[in-house]
Amino acid sequence: MHDNSLFTPTDEHRMLREMVRQFTADQVEPQAAEFDEKEQLNIPLFRSLGDLGLLGITIPVEHGGSGMDTVAAVIVAQELSRSDPGFALAWLAHSMLFVNNFYYCSSDEQKERFLEPTLTGEWVGGMCMTEPGHGTDVIGMTTTAVRDGDDYILNGTKTYITNGPEAHIFLVYAKTEGRVSAFVVTADAPGFSASNHIPKMGMRASSMSEIIFEDCRIPASNLLGEEGGGLTHMMRNLEIERLALAAMSLGIADRCLEMMVHYGNERIAFGQPINRYGQIQRYIADSYAMTEAARCLIYQVARNVGPDVRNRIGSDAAKLFAAPVGKNVADNAMQVFGGAGYCREFPIERLWRDAKLLEIGGGTLESHQKNLTKDLTRLYCR
Ligand SMILES: Cc1cc2nc3c(=O)[nH]c(=O)nc-3n(C[C@H](O)[C@H](O)[C@H](O)COP(=O)(O)OP(=O)(O)OC[C@H]3O[C@@H](n4cnc5c(N)ncnc54)[C@H](O)[C@@H]3O)c2cc1C
Repeated sequence: MHDNSLFTPTDEHRMLREMVRQFTADQVEPQAAEFDEKEQLNIPLFRSLGDLGLLGITIPVEHGGSGMDTVAAVIVAQELSRSDPGFALAWLAHSMLFVNNFYYCSSDEQKERFLEPTLTGEWVGGMCMTEPGHGTDVIGMTTTAVRDGDDYILNGTKTYITNGPEAHIFLVYAKTEGRVSAFVVTADAPGFSASNHIPKMGMRASSMSEIIFEDCRIPASNLLGEEGGGLTHMMRNLEIERLALAAMSLGIADRCLEMMVHYGNERIAFGQPINRYGQIQRYIADSYAMTEAARCLIYQVARNVGPDVRNRIGSDAAKLFAAPVGKNVADNAMQVFGGAGYCREFPIERLWRDAKLLEIGGGTLESHQKNLTKDLTRLYCR
């Protein structure tokens, strides 16, 4: 239905979408409720993403990846999120927050040491930016890295780290002499620890913890790029991250819309299908219109984001618009389903819980409004 050139620009994108959609229906959907209930990442399923080449979707083929672009990352996030946004979040934290970011700021020697096990899924990856005292105000971070001979010594605490309990490797932002730098840290480094799993409302098929550095010693060769260059890596990678998060919201909206159209046609009240009632028609029609608008914006922007193409205005706008769409369409679906939507028989209550995260994680709605106002002012008021 939507397979036209904007959403699926090449044959390669079309095959990718079909493959991920099939995999999601066959393997992700059947386990989604169970892993939500258990609040666990399904590690064997995660590793099968490596077999499909999805963990290195944006990494060039010569380095073992699938050599695809931002549109491809968006397709994967959207399709996985139709069934299991929590599992999709684990994929995103690994392949966008760690793998894509690491690839574009690492040396050949660092790629040689760390890349391969993260592409296969043997190692799970994560990214440590947020701290208990500094979320949106990320530049205020207080985690430090001090050079000591051939090592750096890290001290500080990161929080809300997706994949924290399971991950073997992290991209960590810490301050060197007051400036943000990026490091790669493995979970076996002395002085590294992960807290217990932090319980959360939704996205429960991915786990989350604090990551604590207590005189954590890592080789100086784990510095990514230059000292003080961390903010550039962070800002560049945030664009693809935000588009993938926006696409997760789109996947939730797609699924909820589909379910409410079927249910509206089948559920009888007062002797006729409920889709004959104008109030139900409004839920369905409004949901369709907002989902299509989100789809167009996300894919339009995704064509213009890449390692060498910056587009903060587009990626902030796409996430600002799309995040409430997933939440509102899930809410409309629950209303159309009535009590059945509130119960766990259908996936709607899970998708409804999952959808809210997209208004917070990877930047709150307010942070997108702040960035957009700043960037638009710079653009228009020169
Ligand atoms: C499920 C989940 C997974 C996550 N995964 C990761 C991860 O893998 N790695 C990682 O590093 N982080 C992760 N995060 C953290 C996430 O990025 C932060 O929660 C987010 O950036 C917001 O920071 P905060 O929670 O500290 O909120 P705060 O920054 O404390 O914000 C609180 C409120 O104040 C508002 N606010 C703050 N500053 C301003 C301002 N200047 N103007 C207007 N309003 C403002 C915010 O918008 C928000 O409404 C995750 C979070 C969750 C919930």
